[in-house]
Amino acid sequence: MSNKLQPVRGTHDILPGEEFQQFHTVITRARELATLYGFQEMSVPIFEATEVFARSMGETSDVVSKEMFTFQTRGEDDITLRPEFTAGIARAFISNGMQQHLPLKLFSTGPLFRYERPQKGRQRQFHQVNFEWLGDGSVEADVETIMLASHLLHSLSDKVKCKLLINTLGDPQSRAHYREALVNYLTPYARDLSEDSQRRLVINPLRILDSKSEQDQRIIADAPKITDSLSEEEKSRFDSVCSVLDSKDKKIPIFYEVIRTPALVRGLDYYTGTVFEFVSESGDLGTQNTVLAGGRYDGLIEQMGGKSTPAIGFAAGVERLKLMMEGNWSYAPDLKIFILNVDEAVSTSALLTFASALRWMLKAELDEVRSKTVASVEILRQKNFKKGLDKANQQKATHVLIFAPDELEKGQVLLKDMTGPQYNLDARFIQYDNTWAQFLQLLQIKA
Ligand code: ATP
Ligand code: MG
Repeated sequence: MSNKLQPVRGTHDILPGEEFQQFHTVITRARELATLYGFQEMSVPIFEATEVFARSMGETSDVVSKEMFTFQTRGEDDITLRPEFTAGIARAFISNGMQQHLPLKLFSTGPLFRYERPQKGRQRQFHQVNFEWLGDGSVEADVETIMLASHLLHSLSDKVKCKLLINTLGDPQSRAHYREALVNYLTPYARDLSEDSQRRLVINPLRILDSKSEQDQRIIADAPKITDSLSEEEKSRFDSVCSVLDSKDKKIPIFYEVIRTPALVRGLDYYTGTVFEFVSESGDLGTQNTVLAGGRYDGLIEQMGGKSTPAIGFAAGVERLKLMMEGNWSYAPDLKIFILNVDEAVSTSALLTFASALRWMLKAELDEVRSKTVASVEILRQKNFKKGLDKANQQKATHVLIFAPDELEKGQVLLKDMTGPQYNLDARFIQYDNTWAQFLQLLQIKA
């Protein structure tokens, strides 16, 4: 064993700078859209009693049967690190008596844990932004949820290419019908199926439909479709959802091609009715190209011991969204200001007083205009003027204030805009006073 400490397999540090900025941008956009669509943020524990996940997601699902991080505490409680949000939120909904506040729209974000084979876009600790809408079983809720998902992807970049796959799983009865039809069809081919799918044929035959094996896919191509097992009511409900999403007049902003996909089953037992996935065609995601996935789960709350409550939700993987965005990022530049002190004659107290005044002023001004702009102010000590500017430039400064005793006496400071191509030109003296008016104007915070 190497004596250098390494992160545990499948875990990653999110390093400061661009990497964290991207991570943060995904979560910030999701949070803004959550507010826009009337979702409230809530947080649930990172671990729960194992049965919270095992019972809800289904014992035979991939997640429960092989991907959970489960352990016993010193008190011998059986605990699992959360592999998803939905089950924990359903548990919280019941244990906090949130029934009386329905309908509820809930947003959450944070780390999740699955014991998987690590690959690009597949980690053992990853992050999601998660949306759940409880207490509304309408077609409108399905469409609005998908609009929100689509809006989220589009808000990250209008350049990424995605497809929206959509299907319906019907109610448990239709699903049982379908399961039977599928098993009847597949049984004669049992020996030709992949090893995984032979096992699934007994314990979870629907799961065979999203097998990645080519051999399995050939067999599945002619399998009966779930649509044939749906009641008329379910069919027409699903048609309503699809026809609004797909409407040619494009009044509803779904930015991506909508593809009805009868083989889309999703991996978990609790799904009922509409299910969907956004599959990215941008970035280098390989088979990890599902960036966002969700569906309706009308039976879950009741099954977990609450009152029957219709619900729909989705989650997007933050790391996958980051991969999808590769090369397509556009950030509003934050203000990054350095106060460059090139003269030892400047007293520490003058420098700190100036920095402090600048920070308090900027904070108040930005709050007042409710600007999303983030400003930072740092002191840079460097005797050599040119080196000082280079250093600020390396750190992606937007502005440098050059601080020297002579100017200081005149109430002046030299400002350099570092955002142009030739940052060492066009410096100008600005007068600073109690109003900072000229300064704010130059930073484009105030007219
Ligand atoms: P996959 O088929 O890729 O395993 P899944 O169906 O298991 O996905 P969900 O449980 O629906 O995934 O989770 C929703 C989203 O969370 C996925 O679309 C993906 O973006 C992300 N995600 C799931 N598992 C991981 C993981 N191990 N690492 C990174 N992101 C993940
Ligand atoms: Mg998975």
